[in-house]
Amino acid sequence: MNNSVRVAIIGGGVVGCSVLYHLSKLGWTDILLIERSELTSGSTWHAAGGFHTLNADTNMAALQGYTIELYKELEAISGVNCGLHHVGGITLAATAQRMDFLRAERAKHRYMGLDTHLVTPAEINVLSPITNTDGIIGGLYDPLDGHLDPSGTTQAYARAARRQGAEIVLHNRVIDLNPLPDGQWQLITEQGDCHAEHVVNAAGLWAREVGAMAGVYLPLHPMEHQYLATEKIDEVVNLPHELPHVMDPEGESYLRQEGQGLVIGFYEQDCTAWAVDGTPWNFGHELLNDDLDRIGDSLTRAYQRYPVLATAGIKTVINGPFTFAPDGNPLVGPVPGLSNYWSACGVMAGFSQGGGVGLMLAEWMVEGEPSRDVFAMDVARFGDYCTPSYTRLKVRENYQRRFSISYPNEELPAARPFHCTPAYGLWRPHNAVFGAAYGMEHVNYFAPKGEPPYETPTFRRSNAFEPVSQECQAVRTAVGINEIHNFSKFEVTGEQAASWLDMLLAGRMPAPGKLVLSPMLSPKGRLIGDFSVSNLGNGAFQLTASYAAQSFHLRWFEQHLPGSGVCIRNRSRQRVGFQIAGPNARALLQSVTREAVSNAVFPFLAVKMMSVGPCDAIVQRVSYTGDLGYEIYVPIHQQVALYEVLTRAGEDWGLRPFGMRAMMSLRLEKSFGAWLREYKPDYTPAETGLDRFVAYDKEVDFIGKQAALDEKARGPGRRLCSFVVDANEVDAVADEPIWMGNEVVGFVTSGGYAHYTGKSVALGFLPTAAIKDGCEVEIEILGCRRKATLLSAPLFDPEGKRLRG
Ligand SMILES: Cc1cc2nc3c(=O)[nH]c(=O)nc-3n(C[C@H](O)[C@H](O)[C@H](O)COP(=O)(O)OP(=O)(O)OC[C@H]3O[C@@H](n4cnc5c(N)ncnc54)[C@H](O)[C@@H]3O)c2cc1C
Repeated sequence: MNNSVRVAIIGGGVVGCSVLYHLSKLGWTDILLIERSELTSGSTWHAAGGFHTLNADTNMAALQGYTIELYKELEAISGVNCGLHHVGGITLAATAQRMDFLRAERAKHRYMGLDTHLVTPAEINVLSPITNTDGIIGGLYDPLDGHLDPSGTTQAYARAARRQGAEIVLHNRVIDLNPLPDGQWQLITEQGDCHAEHVVNAAGLWAREVGAMAGVYLPLHPMEHQYLATEKIDEVVNLPHELPHVMDPEGESYLRQEGQGLVIGFYEQDCTAWAVDGTPWNFGHELLNDDLDRIGDSLTRAYQRYPVLATAGIKTVINGPFTFAPDGNPLVGPVPGLSNYWSACGVMAGFSQGGGVGLMLAEWMVEGEPSRDVFAMDVARFGDYCTPSYTRLKVRENYQRRFSISYPNEELPAARPFHCTPAYGLWRPHNAVFGAAYGMEHVNYFAPKGEPPYETPTFRRSNAFEPVSQECQAVRTAVGINEIHNFSKFEVTGEQAASWLDMLLAGRMPAPGKLVLSPMLSPKGRLIGDFSVSNLGNGAFQLTASYAAQSFHLRWFEQHLPGSGVCIRNRSRQRVGFQIAGPNARALLQSVTREAVSNAVFPFLAVKMMSVGPCDAIVQRVSYTGDLGYEIYVPIHQQVALYEVLTRAGEDWGLRPFGMRAMMSLRLEKSFGAWLREYKPDYTPAETGLDRFVAYDKEVDFIGKQAALDEKARGPGRRLCSFVVDANEVDAVADEPIWMGNEVVGFVTSGGYAHYTGKSVALGFLPTAAIKDGCEVEIEILGCRRKATLLSAPLFDPEGKRLRG
């Protein structure tokens, strides 16, 4: 074994081998994969080998497409047969909601270039004659679905990587990891010590243990999973073609042909977490005990859906473990808090996702950033709120929901409530309907008195429509109050704070007592943050952004901190508060403070440290509602006092609480973008209009400056636009294709009903050349193309008189 390498990958399952292949393909040398046994000695060995492109996240779906397309290249380079069967696959719909879901998926695929199509029950009968289509409304056919040989495919990655110069060492367990002062690593292995500049944790079933070696907890958990293989079935043997895969979500099963029989696997409700206290090192190629009782209900439904199964003999039952993250997507990228320690684990569908994971991680390591937004699988989308028990409960929920419909307005119940601010207890008596992000509860809306506090999951307008409408009216006509705890808050101090922020952020830094909006760019000029930056005076700054991105942002800050002179503290949980917004907001604020707050002394984008009632507050004259408004931040132990003061005084001004649903409706009618919708690493400042906050001419060579200047000179090929949609009671949500004539020219980033202005609104990208004042397009919502008209100004307060007045 080479004892000094650039990269040491721990784990020789399909994921570790894919990372090895992609790193060597991108030209890195001195890369070593260390495997404690033979290759494929974890979950990979048990896999059923199925692959598919469906994923709720469009980038994940595209990476699954990449993985599937890669296999032919891999066979050619390695000379190893992956045992590919490109038989296609059908997802069945037995309910109207499922059909809506498949229509929405199909629509997304149009602009992703995936060639899926909707099929009727009669077509399903032709494609898969063994499927009983009673009760089936239709299905979605994906020609890319298929299956392969898990072992052969892993060997193909390994052989191709070796041919590109990579080294693999077998029968060598990594026992421990020691960080070195220069950020590199010492690996203690059974075959001796090894020095590595970078470590990749691709330890699959043992990823938690390999994380603990570096002192971190990675939020993943193994689950048991069973599939059955049948003996020969005459009806299968006699078919003229190999059967396509069939996913029956209502039956919680997936089915495919295996030789002359069938393979059927289940995601059952009565599922079992495995190795709760850690994965034993001596677990190897053995299987877990069968437990057919656990899948009894699913089997009964399978016999009805595929009658040939009822009389088929069972050849084998496979019960094996594999790992999931709380949301079912992989954990990839630099692990926050560590140097040169990379994650490539939590991959629950290694044969659909392994190629994409390997490619993205290799680009990240070699080129400094992946070529597309990978937040959906970034290890930093989770944070220290993920305790082992929280993770287990969420993983179990995710397993049970493997075949569930994902509704855009749905909030998942496991492990809730978890993190709460003091205001949680204040909102509950108001019949608040809560959601959660990054483990923290927030109010979505307030249900009418006497109604259960529950929003019905749907692709259409929900029972929240009326109450949200009233909340929006209250904000626009009087004043509303809602919490601002779902912003992250970073406090930056130190003598170098101002100059460091100037280098880190693309915008101009604010003067004391002022606030600016500033994009943060990657070196390639892509959006990795949209911050409000407040200069609190005396060299102290507050940065606020999306609460759910705090670990993602903190990782970036820490990677770029100078040796001294800057101190950054994450205050997201300690600094909470409320925003008040609406025409009466100023009068309300004035009634609870001795400070003058007139527009002359407290204009738009000003920041003041002031007393509000008895509280010490940071007050910012800004509001994401696009109205006259103030964000009032206080230490967490003063939040209840602040609430009491504001609500008592608010009685005179028509104060009403509002939730996130109203907030989203209000920002849509102002055409304000949102993080991970309109602003994310797939897009640039000029594409999204955030270029108006980029200080192209500031002297400092801020990160991403050259790329931003190049883009400005070139002009963006597409731009974010706002549309009013002729929605007919079904609003756009996100990812719907935008048509011009018979061509899909763009896609929606977010949409919904703008209650105050009474219009259905969508934001989305159009090619720059196609943008003309008032031009008309069509947006495909749940299978219907709806007329939509381009807006040249926001629907509400286009001149910003309310915001600035
Ligand atoms: C029953 C079943 C059916 C499945 N069906 C499918 C399917 O149809 N399609 C699909 O895409 N996926 C399927 N999966 C999931 C798939 O198997 C996993 O997504 C995939 O195998 C994960 O691969 P991995 O490389 O991340 O982890 P693993 O396969 O677990 O590999 C980790 C490797 O790391 C090694 N290792 C760990 N710690 C150390 C150490 N300290 N030192 C050295 N080496 C170490 C282990 O020996 C192991 O070889 C199935 C899984 C199961 C259990």
